Amino acid sequence: MIIDFHAHIYPAKIAEKASKNIGLFYNTQMCYDGSPEKLLESGRKIGVEKYIVHSTATVAHQVEAINNYIISEVNLHKEFVGFGTIHPDYEDFENELKRIKSLGLRGIKLHPDFQKFQVDTPGMDDVYEVIAELKMPVLVHAGDYRYDFSGPKRILHVLEKHPSLIVVAAHFGGYTEWDNAMEYLVGQRVWFDTSSTLWKLPVEKADGMIKSHGFEKFLFGSDYPMWDHEDELKRFLRLSLSPEEREAILYKNAEKLLSE
Ligand SMILES: [Zn+2]
Repeated sequence: MIIDFHAHIYPAKIAEKASKNIGLFYNTQMCYDGSPEKLLESGRKIGVEKYIVHSTATVAHQVEAINNYIISEVNLHKEFVGFGTIHPDYEDFENELKRIKSLGLRGIKLHPDFQKFQVDTPGMDDVYEVIAELKMPVLVHAGDYRYDFSGPKRILHVLEKHPSLIVVAAHFGGYTEWDNAMEYLVGQRVWFDTSSTLWKLPVEKADGMIKSHGFEKFLFGSDYPMWDHEDELKRFLRLSLSPEEREAILYKNAEKLLSE
């Protein structure tokens, strides 16, 4: 059994284009087009039974439509656990967050680099407080040495300011900024996911971060449509983990986080 904690999905109409644009942003070739059907197909090959699915609103007026899309996909596929989107410029955030929670979404995904805001901006404080009150975990894209939106130090500010907010910092806490993740986030009250990291981070460094931070705070994620599930699992299995630690990261930790 595997839970994929980090999967993006897009409506059929825009899947191909959205996937291509993200490939350009990260200067890489995407494995898939971002459709829910291909996600299920790719994950099935390695035994994924649950997927945390999300999509990001890059402008405020897309928020409701994207949340409605995620809700409809969750209703269509029993394998999906939906995380909604919110945008710093979306004014009625309190009602929208309550609405999506009541319709079954379980958390919020933020991508500050796409949404162009610094994750620790005071403008998000009230939003984080409502999310924390609703007990919805936030999965936040973390890090990118080319930008200054979501780096580990900024995520640490959010953790310090919002002690009851549950935060998952994607990509071992800092995509292409793993030294900063080590300095600012390892040992903190934050979860990490493994997505889009193991292709680049040397095995010994990844092992070291898991040891220092604690395997019980790591979640397996594919970052679909960026990667193929079989390849991501292969990279994951190169880590020096005990069978118990492996099981925890592949699904038990995610089960625990979602039951909180
Ligand atoms: Zn993501």
